[in-house]
Amino acid sequence: ILQVKAVSKKFSAKQLPAVNQVSFDLKQGELLGLLGPSGCGKTTLLRMIAGFERLSEGSIFLANNIVAGDSMWVEPEKRKTGMVFQDYALFPHLSVADNIAFGLKTKKPRPNNQEIKQRVAEVLQLVGLSGLEKRYPHELSGGQQQRIALARALAPQPELILLDEPLSNLDVQVRERLRHEVRSILKSTNTAAIFVTHDQSEAMAIADKIGVMQDGKLLQLGTPEDIYTCPQCRFVAEFVTQAN
Ligand code: ATP
Repeated sequence: ILQVKAVSKKFSAKQLPAVNQVSFDLKQGELLGLLGPSGCGKTTLLRMIAGFERLSEGSIFLANNIVAGDSMWVEPEKRKTGMVFQDYALFPHLSVADNIAFGLKTKKPRPNNQEIKQRVAEVLQLVGLSGLEKRYPHELSGGQQQRIALARALAPQPELILLDEPLSNLDVQVRERLRHEVRSILKSTNTAAIFVTHDQSEAMAIADKIGVMQDGKLLQLGTPEDIYTCPQCRFVAEFVTQAN
């Protein structure tokens, strides 16, 4: 569903590249955890896939269509990706139903009001929050807000969901419960996802594959078991076994 080919990003001529020659593929329904220390380029890579950041080199294909590279550029809204941010980024002045409906209203062809209402109810059921349509974000817990953000991203049925540290603002117990929920929600819809985190236990719990980054490079990509049992370099070995 996604092919990232030798992608690099340099913010300035003086700086080292924030992302350096990164390549990987993702299949439909596959969950990739991107792991690495602060500043290693995880967010920049995600933003390039979403279309919020231009590439310096390389190309990106979504569902076999080029979306970035070789002077080709597809706008973020047209990439069929959904994004979930660390700070939930729900619209505070809109109800839960209107938050979720927001992305649906820009879909082409635009669904009618009845279809929107039905889809809102469907995704609320999917994230286990049926009946909260009329609530406002401030009337929800942090965990509920994050599940609404996931429902909103899933509503237009994207090919790929990009999650940037979605659980890091939550307390430990909620975070641990939500890990398993996020995995089972994404699996039940067969949506591919990339999940950025600096928490190795979170990546291990959610992901089918883990990519470990350092200084803009993707050092290793493999199943959680591979990464744990056969780290290809010392940095990976130390990073995945260190306590949080
Ligand atoms: P964190 O876990 O702290 O969010 P990260 O792995 O997501 O870190 P990025 O945010 O992708 O890292 O940043 C990678 C590098 O690129 C950093 O050195 C950062 O300072 C630099 N960088 C990111 N955005 C910009 C920008 N708009 N202009 C200049 N440099 C930037």
